[in-house]
Order: sequence, then structure tokens, then C-alpha cells
Amino acid sequence: MPSSRRARIPARTPSRSPRGPSRAAAPEELPAARRKRAAAVLERLRREFPRPVTALRHENPFQLLIATILSAQCTDERVNMVTPGLFSRYPSPALLAAAAPAELEREIRSTGFFRMKAKSIRGCSAAIVERHGGVVPGSLDELTRLPGVGRKTANVVLGQAFGVASGVVVDTHVHRLSGRLAFSTAATPEKIEQDLMGVFRKADWIEAGSLLILHGRKTCAARKPRCGECTVRDLCPSAALVPPSRA
Ligand code: SF4
Repeated sequence: MPSSRRARIPARTPSRSPRGPSRAAAPEELPAARRKRAAAVLERLRREFPRPVTALRHENPFQLLIATILSAQCTDERVNMVTPGLFSRYPSPALLAAAAPAELEREIRSTGFFRMKAKSIRGCSAAIVERHGGVVPGSLDELTRLPGVGRKTANVVLGQAFGVASGVVVDTHVHRLSGRLAFSTAATPEKIEQDLMGVFRKADWIEAGSLLILHGRKTCAARKPRCGECTVRDLCPSAALVPPSRA
């Protein structure tokens, strides 16, 4: 993009965070300008990631729900190593709900926090059987009433399995990038999501979460963001905060 056409972005006060550039320091950017910049960021990221879908392998909404629960504090790669065996042994919500706790824990142990995850999986599987006839519900309200299912998990399932834009997925990457890109100065996932829902068009909510996650994994890493090779560098208020040797 020619420099004369580049979006104007607000100056920021340098952060002393050990994680490099982080939360915006009261950027003086009007909401309309922020929405325009956010749309430009998405457009760039779309070019870099033409198919921004979840890396969690699944064949139906139920498998995605369980895989998303397992992905907490765990890599998608590790989850993808565990789920084929898990779904082969317990192919339905009824069978997972009836799983012996110790056996289920053994099956998912390598994903970490396995006792808590096993409890969530059994609880939400039982609720799906009892309240929804064994079918994963398709609304945010119903999903977040299931044991162990929060807004992030519900947004993943609704967006990726049902194509429903219920909100913006806020995981650790989206949390970090929202601050660096000055889309939100909030500290909690709930408030960050509300800010992002105002920054992005509703039609872009599903894609926005996926694209920010992919960008966070590939380029805007927590400790060493690679600003020098970042496709949205000229749209990011944090780019100037990275020492030249790291950019
Ligand atoms: S320029 Fe890119 S890599 Fe650097 S902080 Fe901004 S979004 Fe992250």
C-alpha cells in the first residue's frame, strides 16, 4: 500500500511489559477510524490466511465441542492426537456421559488438566443427552448453560460448526493482539469480546477471531512479535515499540 494511503494510527506510550508491546495507552482514535483500521487489518490477514478455520479436527458439532474443551491450556496438535481414539471409543454424547471417570481421564491425560476436563466432558455430554436429545444446541444461551462450556467454547462451536456469528472468540492470542492492535484496552475476555464486537462488523466476527489467532501464532507471538515481517505493521500502534533489532 502506498504510504500516502496508509491508515493513520494513534501514537502510543511505550509499554515496559516483558512481553514486548502490549496494551494500548489510551489511544486517541475515533471509533469510526478504529473500525476502518480493523477492517483493513482483516483484509490483510485474509490474504495471508485464505482459509481461517480451526485446526481442531472434527466431523460434527459434538466432536468440535469436546475438542474445544480439551484445547484449554493445550495445543491443537496435541488435542488432534487424542481425539481420534477418544471419539472411536466414545462416539456419542450418551457414551461419553456414561464413561468411567478414571478411563476417560486416562484417555485425555496428555492434554493436561485432565480431571477437570473429564468432569466437564461428562457433564456437558450428559446435559446434551438430557436437555437436547443428544444433539448439540445451536444457540449461545443453550450452549453456555452446559457444564464446562463458556463463551469462548460456545463461540467456537457456533462459528465453526454452525456458521452462527454469536460473538468473537477471545483466547490468549486474541486477548494479546487486541491490546497490541489497540482494539481494546480491557483486561477480561468478556469485555475484550464486547469491544471487538463493536470494532468488527458482525459479518466478520467469526473470521476475526480465527484470523487473529492464526496471526498470533505465526507472527505476533507473546514474547517475540516479529513486527519486521508483519503484514499489518503499518496498521499496528505497537509496531514502533519493538526495538529495531527485534523488528
Ligand atoms: S506489528 Fe504485527 S507483530 Fe508487531 S505487535 Fe503489531 S500485530 Fe504484532
